[in-house]
Amino acid sequence: MITEQIVERLKSIMGSEKRILLEKADLVSYSYDGSFGAYNPEIILQPVSTEEVAGIVKLANDMKIPVYPRGRGTSLSGGPLPVHGGMVLDFSRWTQKLIIDPEDTVAIVSPGVITADIDREAQRHGLLYPPDPSSSHVSTIGGNLAENAGGPRGLKYGVTKDYVLGLEIVTPEGDIIRTGGRTVKNVTGYDLTKLIVGSEGTLGIITEATLQLIPRPQATQTMMVIFDDIIDAGKAISAVLTSGILPSKMEIMDQASIQAVEEFQPIGLPIDVDAIILIELDGHPIAIRDESEQVKQVCLEVGAREAIIARDEESAENLWKARKLVSPAIVRKKPTKISEDATIPRSKIPEMFRRLQEIKAKYEIDLVVFGHAGDGNLHPNIITDKQDKEEMKRVEKAVEEIFTAAIELGGTLSGEHGIGTMKAPFMEMELGEAGLEMMIRMKKAWDPNNIMNPGKIFPETKGQRLVLVHD
Ligand SMILES: Cc1cc2nc3c(=O)[nH]c(=O)nc-3n(C[C@H](O)[C@H](O)[C@H](O)COP(=O)(O)OP(=O)(O)OC[C@H]3O[C@@H](n4cnc5c(N)ncnc54)[C@H](O)[C@@H]3O)c2cc1C
Repeated sequence: MITEQIVERLKSIMGSEKRILLEKADLVSYSYDGSFGAYNPEIILQPVSTEEVAGIVKLANDMKIPVYPRGRGTSLSGGPLPVHGGMVLDFSRWTQKLIIDPEDTVAIVSPGVITADIDREAQRHGLLYPPDPSSSHVSTIGGNLAENAGGPRGLKYGVTKDYVLGLEIVTPEGDIIRTGGRTVKNVTGYDLTKLIVGSEGTLGIITEATLQLIPRPQATQTMMVIFDDIIDAGKAISAVLTSGILPSKMEIMDQASIQAVEEFQPIGLPIDVDAIILIELDGHPIAIRDESEQVKQVCLEVGAREAIIARDEESAENLWKARKLVSPAIVRKKPTKISEDATIPRSKIPEMFRRLQEIKAKYEIDLVVFGHAGDGNLHPNIITDKQDKEEMKRVEKAVEEIFTAAIELGGTLSGEHGIGTMKAPFMEMELGEAGLEMMIRMKKAWDPNNIMNPGKIFPETKGQRLVLVHD
């Protein structure tokens, strides 16, 4: 409970009262993210310095008030939702530091910096910050680090964790610590940097990050490969990746996502098809011209109807625009979108497509599949209406079956969106009782009063089930 005395103490910690929000309208605005469910916080604080964060967290820890870190609220798993009220710490105003050091090839950034801005600045020095979530123009680096965000380029370059050299963190007890550093090599003690990355704001608050940059590839080449059967598209992914060529991106869009994009903003995608794969190659211009022809042949051999190489930068950009439009396009049909990112080993992609088709038919749901197919990170999205209780019951069962299918095929609950609230009930299914218990023990060691993003990652009761709608 945030009392008037606590508000007064927060005012003395924060440099400006303007960055303390208590109006009802503000509380409601911060009750959502990109997932499902809404929970009002009691207060919103917008810190812009490590000292402010440390002061707030010390107070919260003393008073046992829940603290919910938040970037831009684009989480698709409920990460920043204040499920137990308390304080939301909004970092979106903390964008002041974005330093590129071309000699050490690093970037040093504040938590609220927009991810695409880091790559844009790196480009000015001929460098690349590879992680590129499709939300990179709106999401913050703090949110990306907390979720260990991936993106299309993950196929060739890996994900956020692969580019973090060091962090500054405020622990749940309000201490300021530094992990890692500025060197590529660093093996001093436990790797706390990697532990914090992907911990979804449950182990501490990231107040600064040192990121690794790499030389920017000279050129890129995009192509669209068209399939009459999505299962063949799954086979093509494995065929390309075993042909000796590693594309930088391989993204799939099924018929429903193509149709939705063309109805939303016509791009000129073929609609009489079962799926398309968008492929990007990067490297030396002569090498990628040759590789594009090879990739085209491989796809045609496994049953692609056609493979079209983008003739110029504009047509390539147009194709990638289509991929980015999928999310906004599919929600026009019905208002509620449940985005999953169950991920399977590449060899199981055709089998996963088959299982998703069965789940869609069995539960009579609108299921759209797109995503980073090259690394097995599919995004099955259920388009529904949360007011329709009868349909939501079927959706609950479908979600459970999607996770079961992914685990049975040797995959995981989440490739990049995180566990948050949405997948917490399924953690034991993937980790087993002892595996989950080890994680819970780590959380208790870091955060003895359970103030840091409580209600996330771990099921709150034994045997908790996913409930999207209450009777
Ligand atoms: C259209 C769309 C496309 C997307 N595409 C991708 C994609 O391709 N790949 C991908 O991985 N994700 C994707 N996402 C999901 C989302 O954008 C990412 O999870 C992103 O990292 C969230 O960043 P954010 O700034 O919005 O953080 P928020 O959503 O505000 O928070 C996310 C998590 O980070 C924690 N957090 C935020 N800041 C800090 C901090 N400074 N310290 C500690 N914890 C913190 C929060 O508590 C929460 O648990 C997409 C989302 C949308 C809406």
